[in-house]
Amino acid sequence: MLPGDGIGPEVVGEVRRVMDWFDRRRAVSFDVTEGLLGGCSHDAHGTPLTDETLEQAQNADAVLLGAVGGPKWESLPFDEQPERGLLRLRKELDLFANLRPAMVFDALAEASTLKTEVVRGLDILILRELTGGIYFGEPRGIETLPDGTRRAVNTQVYTTAEIVRVGRVAFELARKRQNRVCSVEKANVMESGVLWRQEMGKLHDEEYADVELSHMYADNCAMQLVRDPKQFDVIVTDNLFGDVLSDCAAMLTGSLGMLPSASLGAVDESGRRKAIYEPVHGSAPDIAGKGMANPLATILSFAMMLRYSFDLADDAALIERAVDDLLSAGYRTADIMQPGAERTTTSGMGEAVVAGLEKLAG
Ligand code: NAD
Repeated sequence: MLPGDGIGPEVVGEVRRVMDWFDRRRAVSFDVTEGLLGGCSHDAHGTPLTDETLEQAQNADAVLLGAVGGPKWESLPFDEQPERGLLRLRKELDLFANLRPAMVFDALAEASTLKTEVVRGLDILILRELTGGIYFGEPRGIETLPDGTRRAVNTQVYTTAEIVRVGRVAFELARKRQNRVCSVEKANVMESGVLWRQEMGKLHDEEYADVELSHMYADNCAMQLVRDPKQFDVIVTDNLFGDVLSDCAAMLTGSLGMLPSASLGAVDESGRRKAIYEPVHGSAPDIAGKGMANPLATILSFAMMLRYSFDLADDAALIERAVDDLLSAGYRTADIMQPGAERTTTSGMGEAVVAGLEKLAG
């Protein structure tokens, strides 16, 4: 566990509470070590990520992260910034698949900026390729031309291996959901899109013919996400389109405090995958230390950990049901407050999840 800075330790603390419940009531025990990441690591060791913490993360079955950063560290040199620690961690673990579910809990359907009937019951998953594509492709740079004007270049590049490994994750995920994958690119105008479409099709025919595969252009996908998001199950796409589409899908749900995520690496010889689970939100320095943070994004990230790293889908679903129930019962932190609901604190929310689990477990 790497709680990090700001509200990170507060929200991760509530996951501890949920873990304790699993330990007591479901005989699912976790061997947990905790480390410093981000500003707090810089305070203690002069670097946002020490080699020891990196090694701990590499040896763990899964990493649960809070958030990093805050005004205290903003004036540090670029390489010592808290976010550099997080980026290095992701890079060293080679996490190429970023999972961003967009789930709308019934009680929060009205918090979306879209019409309630468009989002009620929404449960989709955007899978973004995270280590390739235009953010890393060469050549890149800005040059000055002979006439004094400038020219900037980035390169969108994908290989068969990069497409196939993320495609595999998409099909495997779909098999555990509604068995549908929509692969998104711009094969109409980009060769990298043509290759993406061909490789996805081939992988599907050869290994995953039981899963329904469709293809969609990225611009149309953006439109469909706000027109009729429930048509999707798993969307798989490249780094650039995934960056944009996952934020778009996230906002269908209405609140930053509710959004979990996972980043997965390749399966090693022992069958294990490196993985980081973390809320989408940042360290929220404006509310840190006030007991106001919503811990549900982090608790739902823990549920993803149970599902994807430990194959405990039933236990993950139990947490999601407990969250659904407490929202229906009117528990709200400030960020998701609605008229007539009961305002609670960070720990109040954690306690409500545990109470809900207890009730569900009978
Ligand atoms: P932020 O996500 O921290 O906060 C945006 C707004 O949402 C704030 O008003 C905040 O109070 C609110 N908010 C966020 N999470 C919440 C929660 N769980 N419950 C209730 N309200 C919540 O984004 P920001 O303000 O742009 O960034 C603050 C710091 O976090 C910066 O230092 C930034 O670099 C860092 N950051 C870190 C990560 C990460 O660790 N993965 C991600 C984004 C930003």
